[in-house]
Amino acid sequence: MTLFEKIVAREIPAKIVFEDDEVLAFHDVNPQAPVHVLVIPKRVIPRIAEAQPGDGALLGRLLLTAKQIGADLGLSETGFRLVINSGHNGGETVPHLHVHLLGGRPMHWPPG
Ligand code: 5GP
Repeated sequence: MTLFEKIVAREIPAKIVFEDDEVLAFHDVNPQAPVHVLVIPKRVIPRIAEAQPGDGALLGRLLLTAKQIGADLGLSETGFRLVINSGHNGGETVPHLHVHLLGGRPMHWPPG
């Protein structure tokens, strides 16, 4: 099981902010912004580099869920950033696709 599958299974505790049949969202344990939520598919896709055409609906659901959580947490007006890290150079550390929702402070560009 991936670390995030263990969170889905409630084997590892997390501050969950949203759940439905396909998606789980919870606060990052090491937040990089005042709001830092991870949105994951319950079905494991290791990383976006390995996503398949048949995953399109689920990928769309992740983005729409992240948008809705951002709205629910009051980020729509001030803005927010969605990040997907893929592979070594992308900074991925957990091989279970996740969208980072970051907000509550200005973001910088280019990213580090
Ligand atoms: P990545 O570096 O793969 O894009 O992001 C993985 C994220 O998972 C990191 O931001 C890290 O802080 C977070 N993370 C790692 N372990 C845990 C955990 O046990 N619980 C939670 N809530 N987040 C975790």
